[in-house]
Amino acid sequence: MGLLDELSSENYRPPKGPQCSVAALTQRLDKETLVKFNAALNNSAAPAAHIADAMEELGYFISGDTIRRHRKGRCRCGK
Ligand SMILES: [Zn+2]
Repeated sequence: MGLLDELSSENYRPPKGPQCSVAALTQRLDKETLVKFNAALNNSAAPAAHIADAMEELGYFISGDTIRRHRKGRCRCGK
């Protein structure tokens, strides 16, 4: 079935996970990086944009805005 068939189907639902990109990213990180990433997220002194830069250095692309939303619980992960 083609994508257009899929999109035009009444049953079509956009592929949306229950989690945001930050949560999706954490599932791809190795344990060591995950621990540091979570520590950075919980470190209120670390600006979201800097965390995004640090992750980009490691080859993971995530925007500062996405991180900010996740930190404030305004993302799809909820509370
Ligand atoms: Zn989230």
